[in-house]
This record gives sequence, C-alpha cells and structure tokens, in this order.
Amino acid sequence: MYRTRFAPSPTGPLHLGHAYSAILAHDRAQAAGGAFLVRIEDTDRARCRPAWEAAILDDLAWLGLRWEIPVRRQSDHLADYAAALDRLIAMGLCYPCRCTRAEIAAAAAAPQEGAAAPVYPGTCRGRPMADRAPGDAIRLDLARALARAGPLDLVETGPAHAGVHRLDPARMLAAQGDIVLSRRDIGPAYHLNVVVDDARQAITEVVRGEDLFAATFLHRLLQALLGLPVPVWHHHRLIRDAAGKRLAKRDDARALAKYRAEGATPADIRRMLGLAQPRG
Ligand code: GLU
Repeated sequence: MYRTRFAPSPTGPLHLGHAYSAILAHDRAQAAGGAFLVRIEDTDRARCRPAWEAAILDDLAWLGLRWEIPVRRQSDHLADYAAALDRLIAMGLCYPCRCTRAEIAAAAAAPQEGAAAPVYPGTCRGRPMADRAPGDAIRLDLARALARAGPLDLVETGPAHAGVHRLDPARMLAAQGDIVLSRRDIGPAYHLNVVVDDARQAITEVVRGEDLFAATFLHRLLQALLGLPVPVWHHHRLIRDAAGKRLAKRDDARALAKYRAEGATPADIRRMLGLAQPRG
C-alpha cells in the first residue's frame, strides 16, 4: 500500500512552502488509496518548541488534511537512531570527529557557491572509534561506505529528475563527503534519523522539496548499509518568494497563520500554490 509522510521540524510556523509539500503528499496518498503520515522531526531540542508542533498540526488540520495517528515524534525514538548508528560503527564505517565548524571551514577548499556547508576535508578520518571522546561528532567514512555497499540505484518520480539514478561515488564524495551521522550536541542526526523513520513508518514514497534531492543519494546508501526497505522519492519544486528566494521558516511573512488571519480559506491556499481542489 502507498504510504507517504510530511516531516516538519517544529522550529517555526508553517509557511506556504510547507503547505505545498504537505498537501501534495496528502493528495498523492489519497489518489493512490494509501496513507498520509506526519512525523515531527524534533531531535534538535535547542531549536524545537512544543508550541510550534501544536501550531503546525493545527495548520495542517485547517488545510483539511488528515493523517494516521499516532504522529511519530523523533524525540520519542532516540534509542532507534542510536541502534542504527551502532550498527554502522560495528561495520567499521564511522570515525569520531572533534573538528569545529571554524576549523572545517578553514581547512576545506573554497566552498562551492550555494553549498550550505563546506565538504569535510577528512581531518579526523582514520581515528579509531575507541578514541571517541565526549563531545565528538561521528562521521561516516563515505568512500568506505560506498565501497561496502556496491552499485546502487534509486527511483525518482518527481518532475525534475524522473527516472532511475545510479549513485555516483565520485560525485557524492565531492558534493557531500564524510557526513555527520551523530552531532556533538544532539546525537544522531538528520540523515540517519530520516532513513530509520521512513523504514519504521513503512513509507513507500518520500515526497519533499527539491532542496533535498542530493541528500537522497546518502539516504539510499544508508538504507543499503542498514538493510532497510527502499522507497521511491518524489521531489517537488520549491515555493519561492517574490525575489526568487526559497522560503525558510524564519520568513514569517509567508506563514500560513498570516493568510489564515487575513481570511484566506484552504481553497485559496491551494489556488495560490497551483494545487487542485480536493475531491468530494
Ligand atoms: N524535516 C525536514 C525539513 O523540515 C524534512 C525532511 C524530509 O522530508 O526528509 O525540511
């Protein structure tokens, strides 16, 4: 059965970009006679707030979306992510890293334009896990992990990249490098948590924004290493502001709550986003 999810982090209000993602996922599930789920990605305790979680769920219900209960909250499942991390460590694919952001930026080659963070230059690669000190991050030795997994494909159903994609080690090493699996501050991090959750929630198609397309190659790799089921992916266009910039949670001007307060209806929101009105 088709199952998809919307996975917000409760770090701010839902804006139009999130509404697009949530409605699209919901409508694809409905069209397939499947299930739509919501997952709260709240492992970053310093940035997440219960009040934002409540506001996000309220906005989603107002949009007319219904989802499977209970909602999965990442902070309730930390042991799952720790177990997945331990498996990768036991496979000899991880190393502890004590580098600070500033050190990484200084040691890395000039970051590519638009890249969120410089690719890690590998300073700590080869440090044994036994050397792990409190406060160390844990990184994946990407070259080793790719070699271990062998050739992998993923299937994309979204409009921009529809088709089958073979993972390209050279490209992934250049673009992403040795990603952080566990952060020094919050422990197991996004890439690891998302593959564990998608497996636990039996997701068959991941619907999310185009900005996460590159991360999908890492997710496919982690699924192979952890022996997890493999969904297909559907990356959608990003909703941009008038200046063409991607909306972020801090852009409160586009918060759904603002449109609600101004009297917009869910049908207005769908119209603004170019989405069909619900059936029935
Ligand atoms: N929590 C992520 C975000 O807010 C979404 C992750 C995903 O859909 O895989 O962008």
